[in-house]
Amino acid sequence: MSHSVCVVGSVALDSIKTPTGSADDVLGGSCSYFSVAASFFAPINMVGVVGSDFPEEERAFMESRGINLEGLEVVDGATFRWTGRYHENMNNRDTLDLQLNVFGEFDPKLPPSYRDSALVFLANIQPGLQTSVLSQLGSYKLVGADTMDHWIEESRDDLLELLADVDILSINDSEAEQLSGERNVVVAARKILEMGPKSLLIKRGEYGALLFSANDVFAVPAYPLETVVDPTGAGDCFAGGLFGSLAESGEFTGKGLRRAIVYGSVVASFAVEDFGLGRLKTLSREEVEERYKAFMSLTDFHS
Ligand code: AMP
Repeated sequence: MSHSVCVVGSVALDSIKTPTGSADDVLGGSCSYFSVAASFFAPINMVGVVGSDFPEEERAFMESRGINLEGLEVVDGATFRWTGRYHENMNNRDTLDLQLNVFGEFDPKLPPSYRDSALVFLANIQPGLQTSVLSQLGSYKLVGADTMDHWIEESRDDLLELLADVDILSINDSEAEQLSGERNVVVAARKILEMGPKSLLIKRGEYGALLFSANDVFAVPAYPLETVVDPTGAGDCFAGGLFGSLAESGEFTGKGLRRAIVYGSVVASFAVEDFGLGRLKTLSREEVEERYKAFMSLTDFHS
């Protein structure tokens, strides 16, 4: 039987503009992307906050994916809203508007039924709040965390305290450079591993991802897609696929970890095919497996 994964992060309504089109008020936020991606593999316990305006159909969608919403607090007021616009190359984006609303006062509280979650993923929120979630959990087996430029800059001490307890830190290449002060990704990874995490996943967008641990480096490409519609949340979906697969197999190191990283890349590759969580709304586990096999032939030079 799968372990369950507890995840805390933002739940948002996003408005997104890309060179190919736009979408308004679609389900977003790191916690939503992670949870939906991970739900293809394992039971998910979500911790987040939304306002009284949160659409019933998005709640019903997450419930239909088997996501436990007992820890999704509903507070009087408006849901967190983020508006972003991607540049022509899709790698860079500008935040056009950010309304924290009820997310600004977020104080995560775990329902008692979540305390036995074996895996926990602390998506991008203030590092002090990430630590408070860990302290509310019982006997977890694996801790993952993400962060962003703002917290590396503004809450560095809290972040360093958290990193001592993290098994897998998942960040992108510019965050790795900012956290370590090093341009070279290998040197940056070595320095970050010295800060505490047992493994470090560096996401490099369309160039794939690298996993560093004390004695190992593993590389996975991004699936070559002709059209990327919307890259929002790809990193959170990568982490969701990764943690979901680890929870499903119970193998947290070696082959289990490598397999999980490929699943992370597979789910992220589907997520970018439509706006928001559009593609994941119709995705099946069979399609996930087909693309997993396609990844194997894409990278096979041994047989
Ligand atoms: P990513 O593309 O991985 O950076 O994730 C994008 C998601 O992060 C969007 O769905 C946004 O709603 C959410 N987001 C944007 N800014 C923040 C923030 N300051 N804190 C938490 N979540 C955010």
